[in-house]
Amino acid sequence: MPLDAFMNVFAGNPLDRASYRRAEPDWVAARLADPESLALVLWNGKPMVEIRKEGGAQIAYVRADLAGELSGGPERLLFMGLWKETAVFALDMEGQADPADGPLEGLGRFEDLRTIALDLPAADAAILATAKAMFEWRRRHRHCAVCGEPSEPADGGWKRVCPSCKAEHFPRTDPVVIMLPVNGERCLLGRQGAWPKGMYSALAGFLEPGESIEEACAREVMEEAGLKATRVRYHSTQPWPYPSSLMIGLICEVEDGEAPPDQTELEEVRWFTREEARALMANNLPGARAPGSVAIAHQLIKAWAEE
Ligand SMILES: [Zn+2]
Repeated sequence: MPLDAFMNVFAGNPLDRASYRRAEPDWVAARLADPESLALVLWNGKPMVEIRKEGGAQIAYVRADLAGELSGGPERLLFMGLWKETAVFALDMEGQADPADGPLEGLGRFEDLRTIALDLPAADAAILATAKAMFEWRRRHRHCAVCGEPSEPADGGWKRVCPSCKAEHFPRTDPVVIMLPVNGERCLLGRQGAWPKGMYSALAGFLEPGESIEEACAREVMEEAGLKATRVRYHSTQPWPYPSSLMIGLICEVEDGEAPPDQTELEEVRWFTREEARALMANNLPGARAPGSVAIAHQLIKAWAEE
């Protein structure tokens, strides 16, 4: 498929990651000190943005040297890459006090990424998703997974090294299969009890070690809906920084069946005709609604409904 055939929200980070320069600490330090370099800021996982007068929002960049001062060291900094000649960093801030009322006053405000994603240019949403995934990884992997000693950031924040046993640790991505089971002119959606009333979505589950994507898809469809998969096709993928997933979107043909739900995960599964799926996408099906267009599940249902 062409690279730009379909782009989910949070995919399409346009920065040159310049990974060949990450391992040069002097170069990274010089870029951080360069007054032309920029930094984005996350506070407790929320990006700092500016709301544009003409509508929408965008990343509120600050000078990288300011981010360097506020970081207190490399632990909370990430070299994101290059935008043309400009180096871009990310700063991870934590704590109770809103930095927009403190050291970053007047420079932007912090908003939940998922809530604001559709108000951002696609490139900004993708850049922020990259930074958020990296900081979520750092937050959960401060200690060496081999010997338990505190680890230290290296390569501009893209790896961690254990000073004790020398093990290197790299950011993780957890693959999730998310699929729309279809049978002829019907598709199957499920709902979890905790979701808002009337919300239906695609089925999903983590890929397990030793499984291919299509095997994981078939297993989940059997576990969650009791249906046998016969054919799987790939739609698209989506980086999903909650905290580190890659959503692998599939459309899966299944044998006909009654589809009793898996009571441990799903409250209900329900068949929708293609006509109903179109109405669901148009938010025009009484008593049922689909996830918003930020979610790859929305895109899977839409793609099939429009086929
Ligand atoms: Zn170690």
